[in-house]
Amino acid sequence: MNLKINYKEDILFDSTRDHIRKIYFSDRRPWVIAFSGGKDSTLVLQLVYEMIESLEPGQHKPVYVLISDTQVEPPIIEDYIDKILQLIQWDIVKKELPIKIIKVKPEVEDSFWCKLIGKGYPSPTRWFRWCTSYLKIRPSRKAIEKIVRDHSSVILLLGTRKDESISRKNRMEAREYSSKGLNPHHEIPDALVCSPISDWTTDQVWAFLQDTPPPWDDSHDSMVNLYRQASGDECHLILDLISPSCGGSRFGCWTCTVVKKDLSMQGFIRTGEEWMQPLNVFRDWLKEARENSDMRSRVRRDGSDGPGPFNESARKKIFSLLLEAEKKVGRILISDEEIRYIQHQWQKEFDLEESAIQVANQYGRDIKKMNNFNLSPGDHEIMDDLIASMELQPELIKNILYLVTKKYASLDVYGAQANLKREIANVIETAALNAQTQDDHDL
Ligand code: SF4
Repeated sequence: MNLKINYKEDILFDSTRDHIRKIYFSDRRPWVIAFSGGKDSTLVLQLVYEMIESLEPGQHKPVYVLISDTQVEPPIIEDYIDKILQLIQWDIVKKELPIKIIKVKPEVEDSFWCKLIGKGYPSPTRWFRWCTSYLKIRPSRKAIEKIVRDHSSVILLLGTRKDESISRKNRMEAREYSSKGLNPHHEIPDALVCSPISDWTTDQVWAFLQDTPPPWDDSHDSMVNLYRQASGDECHLILDLISPSCGGSRFGCWTCTVVKKDLSMQGFIRTGEEWMQPLNVFRDWLKEARENSDMRSRVRRDGSDGPGPFNESARKKIFSLLLEAEKKVGRILISDEEIRYIQHQWQKEFDLEESAIQVANQYGRDIKKMNNFNLSPGDHEIMDDLIASMELQPELIKNILYLVTKKYASLDVYGAQANLKREIANVIETAALNAQTQDDHDL
């Protein structure tokens, strides 16, 4: 596609540059550019970067490029972003620019896999989209709040445009803007938002990027190719109508079950990235899994009746299938840290055999066991007696044995008694819930 720049576009580009310059010089507040690697945020970064390059050192103020890594980015996008950030970083150092790149990621317990496989959160839907907050909003907000604490206030530059959708346009028009065209951030106090390309159309964005190479040592070719591939080699503008829009990124997480089909992933596969097929198969399966009542607990986390979290066998199955996909694509999809957290969570709920670690190691990972809790022959005898005479669940007995013989072998530590009592109550409660679920299932 060849988008020509005409006189009208030239005026728009110049007036946007003037606007950015005016805001920059209006105060000493640091800037944070939210960068996703997509075309809109690349354009904003480029415009700001070009302006900063043109300044004298005395005119500098801190500028941050904030990028959020959900840790479930499509691998091909992850590679592109890593490459582009490295090029930008080299250029910043070479030119001694006052720009700092900050990459944020979710806390391990908030990661997609720890929530889904560790705690059993059902795969996200449009109505229960728990992921956006954990994977994107929280980590970015934390980083921005830190900058606000250091500098008292901040200006956040976004690549949002009214042309993206009617609802985006309505939301942007409903905001209250200061005379400088800034609006307060709805969640972060002391952060003002600037959307310098809010009035640009998609064609104008592409026309600019096609006509103007980035100021760092690169071209926009790889980005344009990604868009082209993601739309299956059709006109890249089509992508904007079909791809999930989430947190400003055009490419959703590869695990995203909010969309019916991951069209961008399918586009990559159609245009030569067949190795990504196992990811697509896994995603499609995961989307269906939440609808399978046999995979869900019958009780919600708040104790009410209804489809609850993924149950024990579902979590184990998802985990195995993920590791299988990982093996097929030959690339790590879940970190050791996440696997250890999942194990920790399973241990609290139902698993003392460290089966997550065992399974991961069977798939070629090398994760150390956490507490080597093995039942002695004597323990086995006690267990068998109790199970036979009192019809207790083996997991319940094992969990209690583990608590009293291993985790709280000494009660001399301050608070140990109270913690032991609390944990015993928890395992009994979980066992009762499991029994109830099993009874319901058997009816
Ligand atoms: S892209 Fe999908 S999975 Fe990722 S945060 Fe957004 S809604 Fe959730």
